[in-house]
Amino acid sequence: MKKRKSIIVKLTAALVFIVCIFSIVASPMSIAYKAQASSKPTDSKVQSYEERIAQLKKDQKAYEQQIKEAKASAASYQKQKEYLDKQIAAISEEIQLSNDLIIEYNNALIEKENEIANKQTEYDTRMQNFKARLRTSYEEGSMGYLTMLFSSKSLSGFLTSIERMTNMLNYDKRMMKELNDQKADLTESKDALEKIKADQQAVLASLQESEKTLEEKLAEVQKLYDDTKKNQQEREKMLAEAKKAEEKATKELDAYLEELAKKHSGVYEGGAFSWPLPKSENKITSKYGWRTYNIWGTTVTDYHRGIDISCVTGTPVYAAASGKVEISGWNDSYGYYVLINHGSGYTTLYAHNSQLLVKQGQWVDRGTMISKSGSTGNSSGPHLHLEISLNGKLLNPLEGGILSHPALKYYC
Ligand SMILES: [Zn+2]
Repeated sequence: MKKRKSIIVKLTAALVFIVCIFSIVASPMSIAYKAQASSKPTDSKVQSYEERIAQLKKDQKAYEQQIKEAKASAASYQKQKEYLDKQIAAISEEIQLSNDLIIEYNNALIEKENEIANKQTEYDTRMQNFKARLRTSYEEGSMGYLTMLFSSKSLSGFLTSIERMTNMLNYDKRMMKELNDQKADLTESKDALEKIKADQQAVLASLQESEKTLEEKLAEVQKLYDDTKKNQQEREKMLAEAKKAEEKATKELDAYLEELAKKHSGVYEGGAFSWPLPKSENKITSKYGWRTYNIWGTTVTDYHRGIDISCVTGTPVYAAASGKVEISGWNDSYGYYVLINHGSGYTTLYAHNSQLLVKQGQWVDRGTMISKSGSTGNSSGPHLHLEISLNGKLLNPLEGGILSHPALKYYC
């Protein structure tokens, strides 16, 4: 039981140790990340340029996406067009065939009609002959028979003559019936042809209707294709314009930054550096120069490169004068620190911060909040370590009126 308890104590201690290590390792990283995320240019003109450039980049991305989509749509419409074109070509061929068939049927009909007409003429001629023969035999009447009778050498000869006459008339009648039958057959086959032709005409009409529908569909797709292409071209134009505008804005920003750099570089504006903390933070815990102090139970003597001003973690730290941020980063001694070049050989350094609010290369005005104080690096408690140098040589910030400051309290 006792053994088990001691294991639990050991495990808890190990866990606490891991959590502590993790927080020590993790917290500077999270601070660094925050510093990066919150570092924004302080110059409003630079900011407005950067916002404009960002917007133009965003626009370009959107246009590129729209162009991509338009191209995909156009390709799809193109495929539809090709498909419809093929269908129309096929149906046109069918229409051509159907037309040819109808022409053939027409020719066949004309032929049939001619045959019928010929048959009719033949029939009519035979009818006329028959009628003429009948008329002759009746008109001549008994005279004819009498003549035939008298001219016949015998009764049997007379009867033979009558029989021959009758046979001729019967033959005429038979022939006419035959002709009539043939004509009826022809008419029947003509009617059948007419029906086939009518069916083919119906097929043709339906094909033409389909062709019309397909052509309408094609016109619709063509319009969609044209609209999409037009849209694509417009977006391409807008993309080109946005690119141009971005290039222009970038050039203008570069020129403005150069102008700013010229304005700020090499010229220290003069006058005292301003107090880098709120005026209420006025407690000096370590002066500039040689000092002996106790840290973590050890007595240390060193040359203090600046002054320490006590302040709670998170207190805003302000640029003591305008200048260019030369360094905004980490150093094992300084922790998170900022070094500003003010021109004319002057630099100021702000150490042990908990959070950095500016980035390297950025221009800051006097009084710009550059960081938040803390106790990072070689520090025994939250304070701001301030250094001022001229041409690389450290200056005592509290001598010669170099730093304007509130009434100070000394704890050292
Ligand atoms: Zn210090």
